[in-house]
Amino acid sequence: MNNNNINNNNINNIYVMDHPLVQHKISILRDKNTSSKEFRELIHEITMLMCYESMRNLKLHEKTVETPLQITKSNIISQEDIIFVPILRAGLGMIQGALNLIPNARIGHIGLSRDHETLQPIEYYFKLPPNISSESTIILLDPMLATGGTAVDSVQKLKNLNLKNIKFMCILASPEGINKLHSAHSDIEIYCAAKDQKLNEHGYILPGLGDAGDRIFGTL
Ligand code: URA
Repeated sequence: MNNNNINNNNINNIYVMDHPLVQHKISILRDKNTSSKEFRELIHEITMLMCYESMRNLKLHEKTVETPLQITKSNIISQEDIIFVPILRAGLGMIQGALNLIPNARIGHIGLSRDHETLQPIEYYFKLPPNISSESTIILLDPMLATGGTAVDSVQKLKNLNLKNIKFMCILASPEGINKLHSAHSDIEIYCAAKDQKLNEHGYILPGLGDAGDRIFGTL
């Protein structure tokens, strides 16, 4: 992949944004004094920039266009073959940034919780747009790849529907989350704005930015 602004840290499908603009925005996002309003806006902006990079290899289709001067052939993408799937609840915060870039993309939603005793995933919401082609590009959105459990289960649910071209996009990723997702699904490209140090004993990313959902929705 020819990624000028993305640092492909290793051969294992992990792409970390090292663009100064993104790193600057991440620093404001981490600051506990950043307001919900600014936090949301920064998540939009960072998601938009990450989407731009992650779409570098999208398939183009030729189209005939009439300019004011002549008829020519030009390239377009098939927007409806791009499906953004926010993982509830925090993933919703990334959807506007993604749609700013690809306004006619389609949207699904995944809501998973975990049974505290069995640790099995419980699906409380799962809805995708109709007639998704197996060639479509599916982008899972979740600001925090922390333990990786929900990410693994979400990818599996999509693969069960014969969807193959799945990417995972987050703002911060922990090494533990990356390892867990790639141990289960090594084919998944992970895009993140920063790879953090580790998880704490409560499953929070360090240094992190706190609870992304609470900061997006002001439910602290
Ligand atoms: N989810 C969050 O919102 N923050 C973390 O640090 C980990 C999971």
